[in-house]
Amino acid sequence: MAISVVGHANPDTDSVTSAIAFAALLNAQGMEAKACMQIAAADLNPESTTVLKRFGLAAPELLTDAAGKQIALVDFSDLAQGPANLASAELVAVVDHHKIGDVTTNTPILFRAEPVGCTGTVLNKMFKDAGVAIPQNIAGGMLAAILSDTVNFKSPTCTEDDKLAVNDLKVIAGVTDTEELFMEMLKAKSAVAGVPAKDLLFRDYKDFDMKGKKVGVGQLELATLDQVANVREELVKAMEVVKADGRHSVLLMLTDVVKEGTDLVVLSDDPALIEKAFDTKLTGNSMWIPGMMSRKKQTVPNLQKAFGC
Ligand code: MG
Ligand code: MG
Ligand code: MG
Repeated sequence: MAISVVGHANPDTDSVTSAIAFAALLNAQGMEAKACMQIAAADLNPESTTVLKRFGLAAPELLTDAAGKQIALVDFSDLAQGPANLASAELVAVVDHHKIGDVTTNTPILFRAEPVGCTGTVLNKMFKDAGVAIPQNIAGGMLAAILSDTVNFKSPTCTEDDKLAVNDLKVIAGVTDTEELFMEMLKAKSAVAGVPAKDLLFRDYKDFDMKGKKVGVGQLELATLDQVANVREELVKAMEVVKADGRHSVLLMLTDVVKEGTDLVVLSDDPALIEKAFDTKLTGNSMWIPGMMSRKKQTVPNLQKAFGC
């Protein structure tokens, strides 16, 4: 049985390209593995679609139920972000760069998590450690993932290791101008014309358990906030629908990657708690937070502290 390598729900470019890369590494090491994702190729976000096309990579195959399968996780280790029946599947490996989640195993497994900006950075090291050459197209995907996850090195999650990995991967991928690659991805991911508000909200969205309260946090990375000025009301309506489905709070980070800050839109049963979390007052239903770029390193830890996690 082939190992199914899968990234988190609502996959981003890192989850997609890391599934491809880790499956290739396992294959090169004599294990049968295939890249998977929890959505169909047609539902991939515009950034990931652009990256796969640019580097000629095939989209991972659809995997929604882990029952009876051998599973390797990339870019997450939270059961809530996995396919159905992940808890009862046979987990064989985890490669990640997030906080350790709640997966458990009955036997020892390969578990490699590092506090770096991208799973692609960890995988670059694993290829090196194994003495396996990274195929050119896969290196391109990994490179794109690092630029995306680190917001072109601007995110506080970015480390020296990520920059070193980019230096390795751009040579292998034959990409001379990473700035141009990043702008192509940003253009794709921040295009909002004709996209339903619900799809924009879910483009990069995660649910978290905060002391028993369900909190959803979405993020849109934009070249300028003007891009969403006309769809703002629609976005709030979409957030209201998601919040009504059993959530304590729904937050949407409208991140201006040029100005390096986030307009945080907040719908909450306890707005004062969210204001406390970010030490900022809401104006209407949002607050501008200078320097906020990272959901993982800034938004979620502040929320966890405020919720008493
Ligand atoms: Mg990810
Ligand atoms: Mg990642
Ligand atoms: Mg991300």
